[in-house]
Formats: sequence, C-alpha cells, structure tokens
Amino acid sequence: MRVVKFGGSCLKEPGDLRKVIEIIEKYEKPLIVVVSALHGVTLELERSVENLKFIDVEIFIETLFRRHLKLLQDVVTPSTTTRIERKLRERLEELKEKYELAMETFRILGEIPEELYDEILSYGERLTSLLLKELLLLKGEECEEVLPENAGLITDGTFGNAFVDLIESAKRLKRNIPSSRITIIPGFYGVSREGHITLLGKEGSDYSAAAIAYCVDADSLDVWKDVPGFMSGDPDIIEEVVLIPHLTYSEALELSYFGARIFHPLTMEPLMKKSIPIRLFNINEFFGVFEPNTIISGDEPIAFLPAKGVTFTDDIAVVKFEGGEVGRRPGILSEISGFFGKHGINIKFVITSQTSINVILAKQDLKQCADVLKETKFSFVEKVTYLTNLSLVAVVREGIVNNQNALIRILDALKRVNASVEMLSGGASGSSIYILAPSANRLEVVRKIHRELFCTLYSH
Ligand code: ASP
Ligand code: MG
Repeated sequence: MRVVKFGGSCLKEPGDLRKVIEIIEKYEKPLIVVVSALHGVTLELERSVENLKFIDVEIFIETLFRRHLKLLQDVVTPSTTTRIERKLRERLEELKEKYELAMETFRILGEIPEELYDEILSYGERLTSLLLKELLLLKGEECEEVLPENAGLITDGTFGNAFVDLIESAKRLKRNIPSSRITIIPGFYGVSREGHITLLGKEGSDYSAAAIAYCVDADSLDVWKDVPGFMSGDPDIIEEVVLIPHLTYSEALELSYFGARIFHPLTMEPLMKKSIPIRLFNINEFFGVFEPNTIISGDEPIAFLPAKGVTFTDDIAVVKFEGGEVGRRPGILSEISGFFGKHGINIKFVITSQTSINVILAKQDLKQCADVLKETKFSFVEKVTYLTNLSLVAVVREGIVNNQNALIRILDALKRVNASVEMLSGGASGSSIYILAPSANRLEVVRKIHRELFCTLYSH
C-alpha cells in the first residue's frame, strides 16, 4: 500500500483537482491519500482567528465556501454539484460553531483557548478531504474519508506543534483504516490522548503523511508538489541549480533543517525507522506513468554528485563563552547546556575549541538568553559575547567530510568570497559542513560554493 500526499501547491486553481483525481485513479489500490488545505487557506484561518474581533463570521465562511466551489469548476457540471455543496455547507456549519464558541470565550476570557485555535485551523485540511472524497465518489470510486481523530493519529498533546506518538498511532490506525480502495485523510493534525485536536506545525501535512505511512507499513510515501523535484539550491538565488535524483534521509534532514523548506523537518523521522522511501513528484509533469523526480531513502545506489545541496539560514545567533581553561576543565559544557535546558532554550548546535564554546541558537531565543545570562556565572568563563548578523551556510552530502576533493573545492570557493568566514564546522554527522559567514555575504558564499561544486560534475 502506498501513502500519497498532495500539498497545498497542488490545490490552487480550477483544473488542479482534475489533475489530482487523474493521478489517484492511476494508482494501484488500496491507497491512502493525505491532503493539505487549499493553497493559502491555513493562513486565512490563522488570520481570521487572530482578528476575531473584526471579522464577520458569516461572510468569512461564505468566502471559504465559494473558494472551494471555484476549484470544482471544471471537474463537475452544475447539476452534479448539489450534493457536494450540501456536504461542504455541513462541514462549514461545524466550523461556524467553533468560531461562535471562540468569540464567546474571547468575550469572557480575552483570549481563545489553544485547543479551539488548533481545531479551527484544522478545517482547511478537513474541507479539502471532504471535497476530494465527494469528487471521487462522483467518479464511481470506492472511497472513504477518515479523520485523524477517528483513525487514532495520536499526538503528545502539544498545541500548535505536536509530535506524533508513532507506537500508539500504529496500533490504532491498523484497526481503524477501512478496507476501502481509497482512504482520504486530512493532514496537518492529530489528536491527543485526551481527545484534543493538535496541529503538527507549519507544513505539517508532510509529517502527518509520514506518520501514517509508518503506521500502515507503506511501500512508499509519494509527495506531490508543484516543483520539479529536489534541487541543489534555491533557484531564486542560484542560476545553475541541478535536480537531485536521490537523497539519503540524513541529507534530506540536514537540508530541511537549514533553509531548504521542502519538507516539514520531522517528515523523515517516522520513515527512517521503517526504511520507507519518499518519492517526490511534480503535479504538472504527470503523463500517466509514475516517475519520481527525487527519491529519498536510506541507501544511495550511486552517488556521483559532489554535494546534494547548498543552502543557508539567517535564523541563527551565536553565544560565545570564552575562557583560557574551558577546554581543560571537566563539566563546563554540561553546565552551559544545562543552563539552556533549564530555561527551555533550544541549542541548534555547538562549535567548541580549547578557549571558546560557541552555542548556536535560533535568533528569536537570543533575547531571552541574554536576559537570563545576565544573572548567571559559569565556572572558568571569563567573557560572554553575542554574535548576530551571521548566517549559516550548509553544504550537504553523506560523507562530504571525508571527501578531500569536495573540501578543497569548498575552501577554494571561500577564498574568492569578499569577506572572511566566522566559523567552520564539519564532521559531526559526516554529512554536512557548516560555514558561519556574515549575513551580508551569505548569498555570495552560497553561489560561489555551488558553482565550484557543480560546474564540473564528474571532475572528482
Ligand atoms: N496547511 C498547513 C500549512 O499550510 C499544513 C500543510 O500544508 O502541510 O502549514
Ligand atoms: Mg502546505
């Protein structure tokens, strides 16, 4: 059985649903289909909840209704839309009740409970799954819609950004997925053991689909987007990007953490556990046969590319702890990391030397960190400084650290950058090299390294 996921980018305009249906019909059955909200709908729901005081719920719901109907335009004839319209109205009625509840609580408490917020945002996906199910039924397909709360996609209960409890979910999903030829499940959310709807974070449908693939021991997770596959860099920045036909899980993980926003970063985790490959397809390039542009899996048949991606993120800040003895004294690193843990500040990674420990954080955490650091003293640390205006460039490929040719070429590219880099780190996982460079020069760094590594593909 395969799990197939369609992202919001495949659900933008009239005609898109026809493509989605054509693809679903071509797949071998049984099939599980996980869907995102229509393009932009989650954001609209988010804004509506944030501006609850100012919106007119009736009008907002009506706009959502029209928007979903518009996508049906060239898939169904007006005479066959009656049932779909009714079903859509019913689901929107549920949503309207949530809004009314939210408004009431807002009036009394001045805020909206988190569970209601998550529940309202889950409606983007719920509307898509309903629409798709109805369309497939209309086409004569045997098809059921199963909501994550009924399937038993159990989360740890964190609102907004939950983790899926894979073990518990697997037990429940195996029981609850119907034997129907096609099962449609809305992505982006799960349910806590207490029965609360919890979102899985931005772009969370990838993660839903991966968790579901894990639970049903899928043969693959097929992800459909409107991009031509996984590229070696951001085509808006780098002119000569190339298609990457194969990535290992750890390469994809590194790339999704740092900049390449192709997947929710947790997507790989459930799949790695069961060696389920991800196959990446372009919705605009389906000609009747399933030819993935990129495959992500545990092993790599032949790795001929010097790197899989050159990417960057601006979302870093460095806290530098300096002292002549930090490299010699036991326990300093644990004192520092314990401090961050105690204050709930996530450390992205650490670069150390004999005289300095550099902790790399997300930018947004720096202020809180600086506030609490003012009151704290660490053994043998003489000076604490903050480095901002730095970006992290990551060059990713399994084994890159052992590839002398790639290393020389990266350094050679850096030689030609009009600024010196602040720090370099490699070898922690063997599959990436991190370069901390002034933010003003990060595009230059990315472009020059990419050009150096990809201009002559077979030269190493
Ligand atoms: N609709 C959600 C979002 O926009 C989840 C997803 O698309 O994966 O973040
Ligand atoms: Mg999306």
